[in-house]
Amino acid sequence: MRSLDEFATAKLGELEGSSLRRALVDTTRVTGIWLLRDGRRLLSFSCNDYLNLTHHPAVQNAAVEALQVYGVGAGASRLVTGNHPLLGELELRLARLKGAQASCVFGSGYLANLGIIPALVGPGDLILIDDLSHACLWAGARLSRAAVVPFRHADVGHVGALLAELRGRHQRALIATDGVFSMDGDIAPLHGLAALAHRHDTWLMSDDAHGLGVVGGGRGSNFVQAVPADVPLQMGTLSKALGSYGGYVCASAAVVELIRNRARTAVYSTALPPAMAAAALAALDVIEREPGYAALPLAKARAFARRAGLPEPASPIVPVVLGEAGTALDASRMLADEGFLVVAIRPPTVPAGTARLRLTFTAQHPDDEIERLAELVRSHVLSAATTCATPVQ
Ligand SMILES: *Cc1c(COP(=O)(O)O)cnc(C)c1O
Repeated sequence: MRSLDEFATAKLGELEGSSLRRALVDTTRVTGIWLLRDGRRLLSFSCNDYLNLTHHPAVQNAAVEALQVYGVGAGASRLVTGNHPLLGELELRLARLKGAQASCVFGSGYLANLGIIPALVGPGDLILIDDLSHACLWAGARLSRAAVVPFRHADVGHVGALLAELRGRHQRALIATDGVFSMDGDIAPLHGLAALAHRHDTWLMSDDAHGLGVVGGGRGSNFVQAVPADVPLQMGTLSKALGSYGGYVCASAAVVELIRNRARTAVYSTALPPAMAAAALAALDVIEREPGYAALPLAKARAFARRAGLPEPASPIVPVVLGEAGTALDASRMLADEGFLVVAIRPPTVPAGTARLRLTFTAQHPDDEIERLAELVRSHVLSAATTCATPVQ
């Protein structure tokens, strides 16, 4: 269709004009930290494989064994024939780690958020969402057809004011937030949000994709403080620190049972492959057995930030906000010439004017390379940046 191609070409032209066109780049990961791209071997600071478990022998072997015995795909949704016993075993382990009664796994974290939120709230209900929340939390919220009202990032006072104003007009209400914010690395004020949620009979949901395995002793963002925050809906992914693939939510037994019945992305989508569940189980073994190992990504992020002259990070994610998309792309290219893969993050993934380098630190990053990277960022990136060179707080 000519109009279709013309539409696509015009759209791409617009994106190109504002440095926002993206391209897929063939990338072959060869270890947990090294990869091949454009004929170069680069040390990656852009993978979310915080514990490098994608390449851990025990995790790989668990997946291979499950593949050979149970096959590659699950063959059907869980309610039909896809409910392999490994899924239930994984759910018990996730619930135990998160201090919840039960959990439900999904095909991915994105699918989890698309399924969970519409299963719990709908037209006539209210969702308050942190305005820097991940795209799939927004997508799930919008899909529910509840009233979606954003609140200023991590601003508990704003949430309180919105609840005081709006709560009475809605039947059910949900507060949705990232636990660890994916592009800024800061941690949500979960205790403050939990207190408000209790006061206003509102349900609190955290998306802890970047918390599980790496903060709070490996248990995630609501375990960072001595007393855990009361978060009745703890969602997350198996695809980051666990090095596998899939998503989950931990909640009470009743809520999980409802989600199993009503979350459309669980009911009408093929079940998580057994091998991914086997890999996630092996990854949980590593995290629970080796807390010192799980603490490494954050320790390395902090060492980097000290050396580069950046504020102390709360998670293994360190943003270097540069402003314009072109500035971030130039910095990324310079670092690639030095052997580092640090992908530039641009709008719409982050708000306009806050394009950035986003660095993720992982357990196996060599300390001397971290030092060299910190020096480059301090002397070549931060010094050249004309706009705010500090994380959005
Ligand atoms: C990556 C991510 C997701 C999506 O998880 P997938 O398993 O990759 O689909 C959801 N929320 C946040 C905050 C994320 O960073």
